[in-house]
Amino acid sequence: MPHLERVEVRALAPQRFKEVIPVERYDRFAEAIAQARALLADRVVWNVNSTAKGGGVAEMLQSLIAYAKGAGVDARWVVIEGDPDFFTITKRIHNRLHGAEGSPGELAGAEHAAYEHALEANGEALLEEVAAGDIVLLHDPQTAGLTRTLKDAGAVVIWRCHVGLDMPNELAREAWRFLIPYITAADAYVFSRQAFQWEGLEQGKMHVIPPSIDAFSPKNQDMSPATVDAILSATGLVEGDENVPPAFLRVDGSEGKVTRPTQLFDLPPLRAGTRIIVQVSRWDRLKDPLGVMQGFAEHVPLEDAHLVLAGPSVEAVADDPEGAEVLAETHSAWEGLPAAGRERVHLACLPMEDGAENAAIVNAIQRRAEIVVQKSIAEGFGLTVAEAMWKGRPVVASRIGGIQDQIEDGVTGSLIDDPHDLAAYGAALVNLLENPADAAGIGKAAQERVRDAFLGPRHLMQYIDLIRKLVAGGETAQ
Ligand code: UDP
Repeated sequence: MPHLERVEVRALAPQRFKEVIPVERYDRFAEAIAQARALLADRVVWNVNSTAKGGGVAEMLQSLIAYAKGAGVDARWVVIEGDPDFFTITKRIHNRLHGAEGSPGELAGAEHAAYEHALEANGEALLEEVAAGDIVLLHDPQTAGLTRTLKDAGAVVIWRCHVGLDMPNELAREAWRFLIPYITAADAYVFSRQAFQWEGLEQGKMHVIPPSIDAFSPKNQDMSPATVDAILSATGLVEGDENVPPAFLRVDGSEGKVTRPTQLFDLPPLRAGTRIIVQVSRWDRLKDPLGVMQGFAEHVPLEDAHLVLAGPSVEAVADDPEGAEVLAETHSAWEGLPAAGRERVHLACLPMEDGAENAAIVNAIQRRAEIVVQKSIAEGFGLTVAEAMWKGRPVVASRIGGIQDQIEDGVTGSLIDDPHDLAAYGAALVNLLENPADAAGIGKAAQERVRDAFLGPRHLMQYIDLIRKLVAGGETAQ
């Protein structure tokens, strides 16, 4: 019997959003959460996914659940268990939903059997907790197969898909065919953007809710330039001898300090005055670490500019079996760069033992960066883009997926039309490096874009609206 992991999330006061959004918007938010409290008085809102840390979904759940609890809603988070076969299959599905093959292999009878087998026991464990009338948000392909079990138990089930691609191909359709039988019973489907909606699902059940970031989390909270330097030097990423502590605020309000080292490969820490360009991503081929590196080495001939490719230490992300392999690939491609390029490209594995410490390091490096890159081949949304924009950084990113909803080219960032066009990517970097006033203007506009569209209140209000409709619909039907 698998052991469902319960992720404990502390309640946070949604009132703090007053600090960052305009007053009339805050008032609407306050009204919506009062309604939610009444509507959900006797119901638990469950979130089910497959990892408690690493990647965008875990990042968002941490904060949305905290504010929902702070609003007086009984929101909970459980993580399912799976064996390596299950995660190999779900990673294959994930890659194919993005239009990429991923690990070779079928999504046929044997895969259905292994997928269902892993989920059966998770479903039984969930049934011990979930009551009729509860709301269950199932996240991503790993949990799709739980829909029927939870519907049979009388729950309201929403399946949320965080990945997608703009122009579906046969690989994506293959993944849809695999998943659709599992999710037809759901009450609603949520996609991150219109273009990600699937063929073959009931139109009226599909909803679009873009993701959001938490302005107050260790990942995004304000940080003085001196603290940024202190954190980067404490973790060994950038040289420094700071006299302020490498401190950040934990979610519970206590102070944390960055102490754990970042693992750097073959190179010493960066010099203090170096201009840094960074991409922060899981080690995943769809984030194109090789292209980010090669494009920089070949097309950004500015000696004081260095690239940092930062990602999690690879043991840490339980549902991502390819991380170690992709890191090894990236490292050997780095070894193959000409010497001049090699000295300006740094691979960094960030410590993951303490999620808040990891987040504070990401925060510091995004703030320290001259430019943040997200040159993905496919991207559901790209939280790293919103994170960097919120920090007023100019972002150079591929014109794909949800990145297009965040960045308007030349206004709130810089978009590369073809993610494989390394020369265009290099030119966008050089242009921003050589025009700091333009870069600063773009950074400022980027921050306002996130304030308008990608903070928690907008996201929570859309969920409340959807749940309200589903609950009301259910009551009418009875
Ligand atoms: N991230 C992190 N530490 C790392 C690498 C990534 O905290 O070492 C975070 C990153 O800041 C972002 C999330 O993981 O919040 C990645 O979300 P995104 O939507 O960009 O991509 P995904 O991993 O979901 O494909």
